[in-house]
Amino acid sequence: MTVITQQQVISLILDNLNEQIINCRKCRLWQCAKQAVPGDGPQNTRLMLVGQNPGKEEDKTGKPFAGKAGKFLNKVLTQNGLNRNEIFITNIVKHLTPQNRKPLADEIEACSPYLAEQINLVRPKIVVLMGAVAWQTPRIEGVEYVETVHPSAAMRFKRMRERFEEDFRRLKLQL
Ligand code: URA
Repeated sequence: MTVITQQQVISLILDNLNEQIINCRKCRLWQCAKQAVPGDGPQNTRLMLVGQNPGKEEDKTGKPFAGKAGKFLNKVLTQNGLNRNEIFITNIVKHLTPQNRKPLADEIEACSPYLAEQINLVRPKIVVLMGAVAWQTPRIEGVEYVETVHPSAAMRFKRMRERFEEDFRRLKLQL
């Protein structure tokens, strides 16, 4: 008899969820995107990061935070002794938006159940919500949420950068 572990079950459900995201037609966004970006990272992690939506580079590569904001994020993670490969990274909206505009309310509503399911399956200790759009992430009981600014804003504005860096310094101690 083959025994399937709980981790293997979670992995299968996550694969199935990714398939649903890749084929999602619940809002208009799939029409102008090359592909969906479900997010990635280990299913066994204490930390999850959530951004707004994939940009051009993420749309091209299928990976979250693969562009300029991602490079900045990687730098702040490294500065704080955090290894990106050990973090689950995703977005509240899984498709590129036209001209990279902010996602609309109905797009967030259509897409955020996928994120809720990702959080529920991965069950990290802490979920960091990066930017005001990500702050709308559904809350799952038993998981801690930290709100910070979006890395793109942190890259551009000194005050935001200070807040972002300070939040990640504090986060390292909370994990
Ligand atoms: N900005 C986001 O919010 N998410 C990405 O994946 C890239 C840029």
